[in-house]
Amino acid sequence: MKAEQMDTADVLAHFKEEFHETAGELYMDGNSLGLMSKRAEAALEAALASWKIYGIDGWTEGERPWFTLAEELSARVAPIVGAKAHEVMVTGSITSNIHQMLSTVFAPTAERSVIVMDELNFPSDIYATESHLRLRGLNPAEALRKVPSRDGHTLMLEDILAQLQGDVAVVLLPSVLYRSGQLLPMREITEAAHKKGILVGFDLAHSIGAIPHTLHEDGVDFAVWCHYKYMNSGPGGTGGLYLHERHHTLLPGNAGWFGSDKTKQFDMDHSFTKAEGAGAYQIGTPHIFSMAPLFGSLELFEEAGIERIREKSLALTKFMRGLAAEHLPELQDVTPVKDEDRGGHIAFAHPEAARICKALKQAGVVPDFRAPDIIRLAPVAFHTSFKEVEEMVMRLKRIMDEETYKQFSNERNVVA
Ligand SMILES: *Cc1c(COP(=O)(O)O)cnc(C)c1O
Repeated sequence: MKAEQMDTADVLAHFKEEFHETAGELYMDGNSLGLMSKRAEAALEAALASWKIYGIDGWTEGERPWFTLAEELSARVAPIVGAKAHEVMVTGSITSNIHQMLSTVFAPTAERSVIVMDELNFPSDIYATESHLRLRGLNPAEALRKVPSRDGHTLMLEDILAQLQGDVAVVLLPSVLYRSGQLLPMREITEAAHKKGILVGFDLAHSIGAIPHTLHEDGVDFAVWCHYKYMNSGPGGTGGLYLHERHHTLLPGNAGWFGSDKTKQFDMDHSFTKAEGAGAYQIGTPHIFSMAPLFGSLELFEEAGIERIREKSLALTKFMRGLAAEHLPELQDVTPVKDEDRGGHIAFAHPEAARICKALKQAGVVPDFRAPDIIRLAPVAFHTSFKEVEEMVMRLKRIMDEETYKQFSNERNVVA
């Protein structure tokens, strides 16, 4: 089918006008920082106005009192990750939530003290886990095991399952790998791990807002994520965590007064009465302005439906890689082929990836470079049209054919 026909048939096309886009620019980086929607902007402005109008009383007054803002948001994020409302909390960041979840559920013993991650994992997740192991008096060189990758881009299920040994306490993996975009079979991994008495956590950074999730049904023990990627909540937007209700009796490893039962919080008692659900794993005062945009963003997800977003996202990435195979033979497509094995972006490997990304920027395409050799391109279901994907591939083809990327230096930008 032609791009025009696909755009005409696109049931999500009208969401384009909900976003602030730069004229002429093709934004393919929604998996790093989602664009601002008009509703997210309005929701943030409303939060600012509540401070202006109410001062301290904003904690309990106005349309969205700050005291229960995180709880209100969490109930609406829960369906997006396939969890019960009380299993989700909008709080912290991915990294701080990894610390919180490990300090809460990880109970190393002489027999079981290993955490399994993978060779391709995101550095911050590794740093957090290593530092956590050290705090527990464990040596990361022994207590952290990484599933190897055979091709440097993806993981094989059998290699993950082979790591589920008797001395493993926790498996912490990404739902979607941040470079190649591979989507792991969360339910299969969880079921296999549970049979061996191993807890399972997932980092949903590259899947939340792009694919539907069924965390509760899959029996996943815990999960962490951010909202500033596909969820479009803005730079530094507050993240989220999920803890299966079977673990809600656990005291937070890192406690703070916002984890209190809300009816007791202001008793100012030195004995901590934890909240019943995932709210217990909050620590300090919520970052109101970093949460507010999510209200606007969630409206869009509720109106569009995550299933329809996934459907269009798959069609966009399929269309993109088809055009790339035809016009960009120099680029190696390293994202898994099957729909059920990939998230929302396509990754291309090329030795000159850094320079190609700079040339793309100059040509009005916002890509995403991941050292040393990966170009990630994420068409976003809400605002990317099939015509724009085609236009992006044509701009990239010109760069490759004319080798214009050679004018750029190979130096990496601080944030590429
Ligand atoms: C984006 C991302 C992070 C960033 O963590 P923050 O704590 O939000 O800064 C961590 N892990 C993965 C897999 C990511 O994609």
